Amino acid sequence: MKKNNSSKNTFLLHCCCAPCALPMIEYLKGLNINPDLYFSNSNIFPKKEFEKRKEEVKKIAGFYHLNLIIDNYQHSRWLKFLKENLNQPLENYPENGQRCQKCFEFRLKNTFDFARDNNYQRWGTTLSVNRFKDTDFINNFSLAISNNGPQYFVFSVSKNGFSKESLELTKKYQIYRQKYCGCEFSINH
Ligand code: SF4
Repeated sequence: MKKNNSSKNTFLLHCCCAPCALPMIEYLKGLNINPDLYFSNSNIFPKKEFEKRKEEVKKIAGFYHLNLIIDNYQHSRWLKFLKENLNQPLENYPENGQRCQKCFEFRLKNTFDFARDNNYQRWGTTLSVNRFKDTDFINNFSLAISNNGPQYFVFSVSKNGFSKESLELTKKYQIYRQKYCGCEFSINH
C-alpha cells in the first residue's frame, strides 16, 4: 500500500483509537502540523470491534479534514507474531507485560515501515500518551527503529492532561469509548 508523498513536511500519526487520537490531533494542530492518520491495529478482536473503532477514527478524520490510511486487518498474522516471540500461552501474560510489548512492536514496526516507504518526514503514535500503557517502552522502541528513516516524534505532554482532554473531546464529538484494550485476552480485564 503506497501513497507517494511529494510534500516535504509530512507527519504520520498511528491512531490506536479515536479517543486517544483526538487530543493528539489538537496538540499537533497547535504546532501547525496536520498529520495523516494511520489505523493499523490488527490486535483488535473481534473484527466487529475493529470495524467499530475504525469507523470512529474515520469520523474524526472527517471533522478535522485529515487523510486517513487504513491498514489491512491481519489478526492471524498478529497472533502468529506474538506466539513466535513469547514462550508462554498468550493468556498467561498480564496486561502491560511482555505480550503487550510484542503487540506494540508489531503495530509500531508496521507504522514505521509505512512512513518510510511513503516518504514521511516524521511519525508518532497515540499509544505514547496513554496513561495505561508502558510509554517508556513505546518511545524507546520507536526511537530505536527510526535510526534510518522518518524521525520519531516524542510527545512531551502530561498523560493525565491528555486523558482529561480526551474525555471532553469524545463527549463533544460523541465518540465511542471502548471498554477494553483490544485483543481477546483483554476483553474481561
Ligand atoms: S492487552 Fe492491549 S496492548 Fe496488550 S496485547 Fe492485548 S491489545 Fe495489545
